[in-house]
Amino acid sequence: MTTALKILQSTFGYPKFRGEQAAVIEHVQKGGDALVLMPTGGGKSLCFQIPALLRDGVGIVVSPLIALMQDQVDALTQAGVKAAFLNSSLDADEASKVEQQLLKGELDLLYVAPERLTTPRFLQLLAKSKIALFAIDEAHCVSQWGHDFRPEYVALSILHERFPTIPRIALTATADALTRTEIIQRLALDDARMFVSSFDRPNIRYRVTLKNSAREQLAEFLQEGHRGEAGIVYCLSRKKVEENAEWLNRQGFTALPYHAGLDASTRRNNQARFLREDGIIMVATIAFGMGIDKPDVRFVAHLDLPKSMESYYQETGRAGRDGEPAEAWLAYGLGDVVMLKQMIDNGEANEERKRVERNKLDALLGFCESTSCRRISLLGYFDEVRTTTCGNCDNCLEPPQTWDGTEAAKMALSCAYRTGQRFGAGHLTDVLLGKSTPKMTQWDHDRLPVFGIGKNYTATQWQSVFRQLVAAGYLEADAEAFGGLKLTAASRPILKGEQSMAFRKDADKRTSKGKRAGSAAVASPTDALWEALRAARLKLAQEQGVPPFVIFHDSSLRDMHATQPRTMDEMGDVMGVGEKKLEKFGKVFLAVIAEHGDGMRAYKLAVETTTTKEFNLSGLNDTANETLRLLKTGLSPEEIAGTRGLRETTIYTHFSLAIAAGELDVSEVISLNDTQIQEIKKAILAAGTDNAALKPVFDALGGEYDYGVLRCVQASMEMS
Ligand code: ADP
Ligand code: ZN
Repeated sequence: MTTALKILQSTFGYPKFRGEQAAVIEHVQKGGDALVLMPTGGGKSLCFQIPALLRDGVGIVVSPLIALMQDQVDALTQAGVKAAFLNSSLDADEASKVEQQLLKGELDLLYVAPERLTTPRFLQLLAKSKIALFAIDEAHCVSQWGHDFRPEYVALSILHERFPTIPRIALTATADALTRTEIIQRLALDDARMFVSSFDRPNIRYRVTLKNSAREQLAEFLQEGHRGEAGIVYCLSRKKVEENAEWLNRQGFTALPYHAGLDASTRRNNQARFLREDGIIMVATIAFGMGIDKPDVRFVAHLDLPKSMESYYQETGRAGRDGEPAEAWLAYGLGDVVMLKQMIDNGEANEERKRVERNKLDALLGFCESTSCRRISLLGYFDEVRTTTCGNCDNCLEPPQTWDGTEAAKMALSCAYRTGQRFGAGHLTDVLLGKSTPKMTQWDHDRLPVFGIGKNYTATQWQSVFRQLVAAGYLEADAEAFGGLKLTAASRPILKGEQSMAFRKDADKRTSKGKRAGSAAVASPTDALWEALRAARLKLAQEQGVPPFVIFHDSSLRDMHATQPRTMDEMGDVMGVGEKKLEKFGKVFLAVIAEHGDGMRAYKLAVETTTTKEFNLSGLNDTANETLRLLKTGLSPEEIAGTRGLRETTIYTHFSLAIAAGELDVSEVISLNDTQIQEIKKAILAAGTDNAALKPVFDALGGEYDYGVLRCVQASMEMS
């Protein structure tokens, strides 16, 4: 595997393989067939790109997402890989040029649209070429039951018949068992080895919030952690899409609308701007999403409830494909629940289908109201068992409180019952609070025994009670009574006092504002260096006519920002900076860092300037604090890196900050014996104490200790 690792480092600039990548690559490189199930952003592309580079001949990649081929090929070309594509966007001349390159064996990778691949003419071309492997991306497109069915995909079984000795690797992010079976069957992959990854997306932080003034809450969410970042805001209706996009623009954000009612050219235009410009917010219905391969979507916000857990997973999954921290934010309230239930009831579907839809919505509501780790419930819904809490969802970060609502539930239910099971939560609340309204006198509700019995609670609390009773299935919205709430069979034990009831305490929007746990950890840096790095990237991208992420992913900029390299050598250590990109862009970004950086390593800064405003009282900045917090929850450095979408080296830099600040003992994060520690200290002293650069130390020790370890020991020396 050394050669595969070498390619990973020198061509793609990544230090090590993730998850199953190494195993898949080894298997395919040796000629085996593979079926790879990995979540979005898991790193599927390298699973076929690297074996294609290692094996003789060209790797043929089938993908239905024609619009994305250009970007993928651009990104590979930037990394120095000989890649091309063939699809209907090329004219005859361009296509024949690519075909010539193929025949002459000049390509490492060729992306082809499925309908072209299976034409007799193209199969003939292939027969005359040396082929390294076939990669079938988005393999779930063979499934007739999925949303993305492509008839052309079914014909791909011909590859196996024509080229039985060439390895095939099929990849998908769709996990369910039915689809899996269909892929194996239709693509004749019975002998393929299956690689199944966890479907967790550790870098996505899940947050569900109670809707009270949706727009203001959205603006606050954006303001707090996503200024200038790209993201998607999903709304249910076209009208809401238009209104919210306009509103966001008036608030100073750059937002574009996207829905099926816009004409094709506006849609295309808005999508292109979203891809190519920095920091655009797409306000969209679910018509937007299929084939959105933008890696640096930093947030997905839902202003309306998705239909099911499946939709929620898929829609939020468009955030953070690059593995960098991203947020999934959802605002919901009783109104949404009632409306969605009515939509199902009044829909065209038959009774059985409606039952399925109701169950799916209920599962989602259960998720929204849950008081424990969201990741555990989300993965659990897809039958993946996870036992540890994630530390990266709202419930983990700020565990919600519950209160005993047995009595309140009883009052709420009897109020609905006594008023005839035909009124909404608004009027029922008025009844409980004993308000005299025209409606009250009209219906004589002020004469009922429930009138005014709920004065111990506020209107907001009653709204919360009704919402949770509906979400938990004790009350349901009656479509025939215009959404009036009626009791379900499940509510009887509560009414009779046989069952107790715990409610979630809704966060008070005033008090939670501004001090949301860890929200700063997700936010990108906002300083001059960060802006300058982004501007340099955008300029290069525009000059070359490619999207910014083709030049560098956010992870690379973030890493540059954190480590502030000063030499080409150090720049080469930055995540995602391979040899070609170093050669092409290294100097430009070094110049930016020299001009806008602080000229000192982050940890030096922390030691020396504990009083500046970037550091809080303990002397640690927010991101180091977040790392420390996760360490204290028992996560390993590797897990922290995964959760936060950062490199392990960066995590160790945070440790070193904490050690230097006296918050952490070196022995808590590295396990070395005294002799080893002495050896390192000696080497550091020998290299000169003024110098923060650790390369001479690293070399002097023969590369035996990671930089992270060295940095921690160095920090402990500064401490003493
Ligand atoms: P998928 O196709 O599974 O959605 P990609 O192949 O597009 O995912 O990879 C997602 C992101 O992760 C890309 O930005 C890619 O460059 C990055 N990536 C993949 N493998 C690694 C790795 N071993 N180390 C660091 N980053 C990686
Ligand atoms: Zn959690």
